[in-house]
Amino acid sequence: MRLILVLVEHSGGVVDDSAFELASAARKLGEPGEGVRVGAVLLGNDVSGIAEGLGRWFDDIYVFDSPRLQVPDGVAGAELLAGLIEQEQPFVTLIPHTNTGMDLAPALAIRAGAPLLADCITLEATEDGISAVRTRYGGKVHARISAAGTGGFMATLRPGSFAATEAPGAGGELHTMAVPEGLAPQRRFVETIAPEPGAVDISQAEVLVAVGRGIDEEEHLEIIRSLARAMGAEIACTRPVVDKGWLAKSYQVGTSGVAVKPKVYLAIGISGSYQHTGGIKGAPFIAAIN
Ligand SMILES: Cc1cc2nc3c(=O)[nH]c(=O)nc-3n(C[C@H](O)[C@H](O)[C@H](O)COP(=O)(O)OP(=O)(O)OC[C@H]3O[C@@H](n4cnc5c(N)ncnc54)[C@H](O)[C@@H]3O)c2cc1C
Repeated sequence: MRLILVLVEHSGGVVDDSAFELASAARKLGEPGEGVRVGAVLLGNDVSGIAEGLGRWFDDIYVFDSPRLQVPDGVAGAELLAGLIEQEQPFVTLIPHTNTGMDLAPALAIRAGAPLLADCITLEATEDGISAVRTRYGGKVHARISAAGTGGFMATLRPGSFAATEAPGAGGELHTMAVPEGLAPQRRFVETIAPEPGAVDISQAEVLVAVGRGIDEEEHLEIIRSLARAMGAEIACTRPVVDKGWLAKSYQVGTSGVAVKPKVYLAIGISGSYQHTGGIKGAPFIAAIN
């Protein structure tokens, strides 16, 4: 039976949604009629509570728990994961295409000598390996990429591109993994820069009212704010609105902003450049006033 490993991202004791999206994507990678085991890889400090919560989603949970892993460190993570991959020989290792994942995955692929498919928005097992779709040129082009072989593949999956299904009730088996002394000492943690106080996480909003340059004046934001309040929505914006200083960067949707996955997206005074729409994931209902 194939094993698929999933790197679980978490922060402040809360598991990132990407873990459940990747777990659901992993369940579809088994051989027909053979089934699949899905294993979580958890790196962190004092993460036993998080590990227990993952049991419904994963068959196996490999826990690397050490003060050395208090903050994400791609070099240390790559070292630990490379050892686990050598030991368990997974068919594919799935990593979220987040800052942490982007830091870790290339170093891991080099260490493990494995082909890496990066920033995938689809992923499937094929007769001779795996195949995925990824975007190129900031979202202008969709390209199909693939890797052939019997296993040992790696892929980073874009958060929000894979639906999290119901937890399968897997009842995960815990595996406590050793963290070697003197693990990857090349990096030193300096500081955590917290988001600005009161900042809204628009990536979690179900309804977004987004504004662009077409609203013309900063004062018109008040109209947008009252509309958003009436709709129970959060506000979001395009890059020119941030460049003008009308809203903070945390409100910007797009390839160089936040990726969002609302159910409803109301765009006001927005032309729909691919850098903007590249940040809208899933298949929301989009209405534009233009
Ligand atoms: C490397 C790079 C990264 C980028 N990343 C991002 C990103 O992450 N997010 C992002 O948003 N952009 C990004 N951009 C910028 C992007 O290319 C576009 O310039 C930007 O998205 C356009 O924003 P807009 O739609 O608000 O403005 P415009 O393209 O100027 O569109 C304004 C729209 O408002 C309409 N309008 C005018 N008056 C009215 C009115 N009275 N009522 C209704 N509609 C009206 C106009 O017809 C027009 O369609 C990036 C660009 C680069 C080069």
